[in-house]
Amino acid sequence: MYKDPDQYQELRDAVRKLCAQFPDEYFREVDENRGYPEAFVDALLEAGWLGAMIPEEFGGPGLGLAEASVIMEEINRSGGNSGAVHGQMYNMGTLLRHGSQAQKEKYLPAIAAGKLRIQSMGVTEPTTGTDTTKLKTTAVKKGDRYVVNGQKVWISRVQHSDLMILLARTTPLSEVKKKSEGMSVFIVDLREAIGKGLTVRPIRNMVNHETNELFFEDLEIPEENLIGTEGQGFKHILDGLNPERVLIAAECIGDGYWFVDRATKYANERIVFDRPIGKNQGVQFPIAESLIEIEAANLMRFQACSLYDSNQPCGAQSNMAKYLAAKASWEAANACLQTHGGFGFANEYDVERKFRETRLYQVAPISTNMILAYMAEHVLGLPRSY
Ligand SMILES: Cc1cc2nc3c(=O)[nH]c(=O)nc-3n(C[C@H](O)[C@H](O)[C@H](O)COP(=O)(O)OP(=O)(O)OC[C@H]3O[C@@H](n4cnc5c(N)ncnc54)[C@H](O)[C@@H]3O)c2cc1C
Repeated sequence: MYKDPDQYQELRDAVRKLCAQFPDEYFREVDENRGYPEAFVDALLEAGWLGAMIPEEFGGPGLGLAEASVIMEEINRSGGNSGAVHGQMYNMGTLLRHGSQAQKEKYLPAIAAGKLRIQSMGVTEPTTGTDTTKLKTTAVKKGDRYVVNGQKVWISRVQHSDLMILLARTTPLSEVKKKSEGMSVFIVDLREAIGKGLTVRPIRNMVNHETNELFFEDLEIPEENLIGTEGQGFKHILDGLNPERVLIAAECIGDGYWFVDRATKYANERIVFDRPIGKNQGVQFPIAESLIEIEAANLMRFQACSLYDSNQPCGAQSNMAKYLAAKASWEAANACLQTHGGFGFANEYDVERKFRETRLYQVAPISTNMILAYMAEHVLGLPRSY
């Protein structure tokens, strides 16, 4: 396995030890059955890894983004898929940053203990897509409750979560000065909501990712479930995007190393024309190139982590890390598949599964174009393009 020990080696070893209990066959079977890796997620929750960033005062270890990102990286590097769990790592951030003391005390200790799942965040809608400020789901205050109507799409892990962070419009677009105003964030208790105003329809998809269409029909949410300031919800969600980008980047980096390791191993073992295929530069170079690109993305990931963990602005670095990592892991996936020839397509090598899984990250949670648009506008100072 490539890579010298770094300052996180102890953490890496601990996460690897847990992941080693869930070999390739486990994830392959889950994928083939379109299941959810229940036992794996339970083990991670029990070990406390997914509450890594919850401060000590709320029962968590209070680790930084760097450590949290190493946990995500190691899951993907072990052959697993953090897509089943990463919501638990970052959705609590909205609560931590903008929740009231009472909300934090109510939820965070149970999340830290792995007893409460906050795996879901409902933002995307079918008719508005990336144009989030136009979202149509409304939450209208009636007495001591908000009544929610509308629709969401691609909302992940709802069937394996207790809570969901929901973004909905509380003031009509026509009545706000800025389109980013008038939206609010709520905690939805899925255990109470499903079947009582919330209908969940699973979406079959390419990556065995548990994701769903949601239909809200007069779903009632108690007013105390509003997080932060009414009307400022979009800003509250934006505040959490940098750590999310970095964690996803780390997952891609984990995938990238996995592809490089597997490609290297196979290239050394596979004999064609009486010599290992890895002796051919046409086989070596794409793997070497992948490693270089993953290493570069890795540096940017740790740069973003270091800025975030020292409370400095990290928007550019987080976006660049996500961009570089998603691209590098996809190139590594291609190189790995090509190195395996026909066997790359066989389920039993797991390459095709990881290939599908890593492709997602150029589309979700943010598409590559939107990262480029961010860099153009916010870093280069070019005119906003949309
Ligand atoms: C498996 C999966 C899980 C997901 N999980 C969640 C979740 O848990 N919660 C959630 O809220 N969402 C989730 N999403 C949604 C995801 O965040 C969106 O799919 C993504 O943000 C893109 O939005 P869209 O699909 O509506 O694409 P669209 O907005 O329709 O865009 C389609 C394409 O056009 C491009 N495009 C659009 N506008 C521009 C522009 N102005 N300039 C350049 N290019 C542009 C986009 O980059 C994209 O490539 C998930 C998606 C998937 C596939």
